[in-house]
Amino acid sequence: MDFRDYITNVPDFPIPGIQFKDITPLIGDGEAFHQAIMELTQFSADLKANKVIGPDARGFIIGAPVACALKAGFIPVRKPGKLPREVIRYDYELEYGKNTLCMHKDAIKKGDRVVIIDDLLATGGTMEATIKLVEAAGGKVVGLGFMIELVELNGRKKLKGYPIKVLMQY
Ligand code: AMP
Repeated sequence: MDFRDYITNVPDFPIPGIQFKDITPLIGDGEAFHQAIMELTQFSADLKANKVIGPDARGFIIGAPVACALKAGFIPVRKPGKLPREVIRYDYELEYGKNTLCMHKDAIKKGDRVVIIDDLLATGGTMEATIKLVEAAGGKVVGLGFMIELVELNGRKKLKGYPIKVLMQY
């Protein structure tokens, strides 16, 4: 299956100059969604992950089914003001704009092996921020999974040393 058949490119969204990769046709197709989740689940199983993290919001759509298929726990990493208990937070730059991510302070247990799953690797800022949260909380990041990598933005340079799985590249 070529997952790229299920991605729609939307020019100039959300701001001029951005080629937005819309994953909704992929997750809207039962076969393609299942296949994508299974490939990321196999990657996570091979790394013996026991926790999956998905950054707000598209990371939830992909990370939660991977966690469930793996029988691993799922940890949401969210924008400020959404998590009800004490959080740790990290500020970073996006391909467009700025963002802050938060995680419950007690979400990671000692010895947890964490895979972080998101829809798309662009500059790598979101993933780098999420790694920092996990490591500050005492977790071990064993791998990073994405549906899409925008190769020209070279997000991988921020993620050196971590095993990476991507389902398609642009
Ligand atoms: P980055 O932190 O730069 O790697 O950006 C990754 C996050 O921003 C991903 O979680 C995507 O949801 C979103 N994103 C960045 N660029 C794009 C794009 N061209 N198309 C769709 N989503 C994007």
